[in-house]
Amino acid sequence: MSQHVDFFSRELAELGNGRRDFMELGRHAGRFPKALARGIRPGSTVSEISVWCSNDYLGMGEHPVVLEAMKRAIDEYGAGSGGSRNISGTNHCHVLLEKELAALHRKDSALLFSSGYAANDGALTVLAGRMDGCIVFSDELNHASIIDGLRHSGAEKRIFRHNDTAHLEELLAASDPDRPKLIVLESVYSMSGDIAPLAEIAEIARRHQATTFLDEVHAVGLYGPQGAGIAAREGLHDDFTVIMGTLGKGFGTAGGYLAGPAPLIDAVRNFSRPFIFTTSLPPAVAAGALAAVRYLRGSDRERERLHENARHLQRLLGKHGIPYVSDDSHIVSVLIGDDAICKEAAARLLHQHGIYAQSINAPSVRTGEEILRIAPSAVHTPGDVEEFAAALNEVWSEIGTTAPSPLRTAA
Ligand code: PMP
Repeated sequence: MSQHVDFFSRELAELGNGRRDFMELGRHAGRFPKALARGIRPGSTVSEISVWCSNDYLGMGEHPVVLEAMKRAIDEYGAGSGGSRNISGTNHCHVLLEKELAALHRKDSALLFSSGYAANDGALTVLAGRMDGCIVFSDELNHASIIDGLRHSGAEKRIFRHNDTAHLEELLAASDPDRPKLIVLESVYSMSGDIAPLAEIAEIARRHQATTFLDEVHAVGLYGPQGAGIAAREGLHDDFTVIMGTLGKGFGTAGGYLAGPAPLIDAVRNFSRPFIFTTSLPPAVAAGALAAVRYLRGSDRERERLHENARHLQRLLGKHGIPYVSDDSHIVSVLIGDDAICKEAAARLLHQHGIYAQSINAPSVRTGEEILRIAPSAVHTPGDVEEFAAALNEVWSEIGTTAPSPLRTAA
């Protein structure tokens, strides 16, 4: 048992009756009278612009299964949840979604947050901060929400060079073997698009008896059997203690979550301020997310299309000699390395070709490492990919840029 699981089991036992648990609530949830039954027409964002930077990677945000589930939930439960999870804001849809997510990741339980940002911030504040002496080992490219959670935890922190397992090993070996340790990383990195060496990191964590926290925000729904992510793809379900994900990207809706051992999830439920002190997700959003998760557990088609499109795009960029950071994943980050040129490239794509690809500048990446972060989706056709690559090639020759150093996100 990880030191974290052991510690939080004891902490929860001490809380005794003060503990928050949804078992009782879950039984009643969904029977609350509906507050509103308003028909909402799905927003028609009709536009002539071709979008190449959406995180709705699989098109689930417009999938009929998701839209139908949301419409039905609005009719049944109204527009909003009516409260925080502990005070009238737990609905049947939240409970079912948490069960589904726990099953997807083969973990004891799962917990929803209003966003992935809140999930990282809230969970890491608790998991790193409540355990005296915990040392956190964090990849230098970790997302801002991870950085903020670790800051809020007040825990001692060691930053390892991006995906550098030798550096991680070195930092762990130099630390007091008796202190509890938490390794925090992403599977698919949001800006560089490369994938962490999960098997090696799992092995290092085992050797140093460290708890592991894996952000799979850019992987859930997209990779692995049933869309369970990269850890699942590599058969490493059990090696990563906590899996963190979002419902706002591959699952096309909104919200964030954790899945993990019951004592850790219960601890976060009991102590995390971004979980406790906020209105819960609208039931219709939870219902839409549930429909997306269930659908993607049973369908590989969207995943296959997305990955075919990404490979097709990467081949074409290679042919045109346009450098991108990594071909590990579907995130194709074209290196520009200059703030003004990057914005100019995005503007030319938009005005000359009707293509929206956002330039990514500081603080999302460090100054001098600006990128066009291209995200093909499952709803693009091979023809769309070819048109996009041709347009980018034209803009690329106009701006005549050269590839700079590897990416680093801002601290
Ligand atoms: N983790 C990573 C790696 C992210 O890229 C993001 C959002 N871009 C988040 C967490 C936060 O997720 P959400 O958008 O659901 O708040």
